[in-house]
Amino acid sequence: MGLLPIDQALLQLLDPVTAVSDEWVPTFHTLGRTLSEPIEAPEAFPFDHNSAMDGYALKAGSGPWTIVGESAAGSPYGVSLDSNEAVRIFTGGVVPQGADSIVIQEDALIEGRLLTSATPVRLGQHIRHRGSDLAKGEVLLTRGATVKLPDLGTLAGLGIERLKCTRQPRVSIYSTGDELIPLGHTRKAGQVYDSNALQLRHAVEAAGAQVVHCSHLTDDRQLIDDTLKRREVDSDLIILSGGVSVGDHDHVAKALRAVAGELRFYKVAMKPGKPVAATQINECIVLGLPGNPASALVSFEVFARPVIKTLLGANRVHRSLNVAPCPVALPAGGKRHEFLRARLGANQVTPNTRQGSGDLSSLLQADALIFRPARAPASNAGQNQAYLSLSGCDHDYPPEAQWASRN
Ligand code: AMP
Ligand code: MG
Repeated sequence: MGLLPIDQALLQLLDPVTAVSDEWVPTFHTLGRTLSEPIEAPEAFPFDHNSAMDGYALKAGSGPWTIVGESAAGSPYGVSLDSNEAVRIFTGGVVPQGADSIVIQEDALIEGRLLTSATPVRLGQHIRHRGSDLAKGEVLLTRGATVKLPDLGTLAGLGIERLKCTRQPRVSIYSTGDELIPLGHTRKAGQVYDSNALQLRHAVEAAGAQVVHCSHLTDDRQLIDDTLKRREVDSDLIILSGGVSVGDHDHVAKALRAVAGELRFYKVAMKPGKPVAATQINECIVLGLPGNPASALVSFEVFARPVIKTLLGANRVHRSLNVAPCPVALPAGGKRHEFLRARLGANQVTPNTRQGSGDLSSLLQADALIFRPARAPASNAGQNQAYLSLSGCDHDYPPEAQWASRN
């Protein structure tokens, strides 16, 4: 198989993926969850005509009005007013029947129980009308939206106690490699710490999925085959890192081919992250990511995260491509599209100094991936660079298509 363009690989990967089943979730626990149904306002909001200010509720006119009672937040004045009557009202207080305007207390001239207004009363002034914010049935959030922090306040304010969300996809993560040791173990010659497991676990959770298994496999073909067969049953996605190339100790691609029957794709025209293998075993998507830590991160962001987002039924599944000036010059690009680990600053994006796929330093503080298309000409300091932001809003289109639509 030759090197596949990124977007084509994504198409082959995502096309057969459908959203997982859904479940009711208490609103309190829905932050970051994806909605499987649109949410509509169950009632008009505000629920009642109410006062935006402290003052007096009355029928607009020239007065005077007789103050007959009080309407405080939570304690409405339950009687209809005549046109020459007013009630003391406080912010949030329900405007009584018969009243249509509020005279703010700063404008109120009071003698005994008689009220006049220091300024002409404009009909409807300082009233928040029932339904002026939201009509009953108005769509608040669409199917596939991810619940954001401010949404929680709106949902709670409307009395919405629970939401239909897609369940969190179950993801199993395996680091493969005889050389890997977990944190806390004493390192012997030739051993390296397993950094992908920790990184991928958090990346999976940040994408909205749950990690159901996360462990290490030695470079043992039988063990990898057995693990795939066991885990496809209880996982929506299996992510392996390492062992996906063609070396004598690389068994992942062969295991995927053997257990699944075929690979959906293998090897993509990108750097880092070329040896990515994808397949499906029954209902379970399986991705073999390269073991180098930077390659694992980049290929997770480009391939695995969109799989999770598609399983979630999210309406946008790809990282979005933005543009910012880059304060350093960049050399001409190579044959493959390249993703440079970079830091976002105030209106600039700066690549980390070292960009080798095995360079741990290339990951430090990286919150963006500068996207250098294949054969990009060398660029000067200060020139704009496109980058995928590793946070913020997502996009409908995969990276190459986003790039093409900008150029
Ligand atoms: P591989 O993809 O198995 O050929 O591994 C490529 C490089 O990445 C090797 O130097 C591995 O030691 C390293 N590597 C593989 N898996 C991990 C991991 N989980 N954590 C840190 N480094 C890894
Ligand atoms: Mg290996």
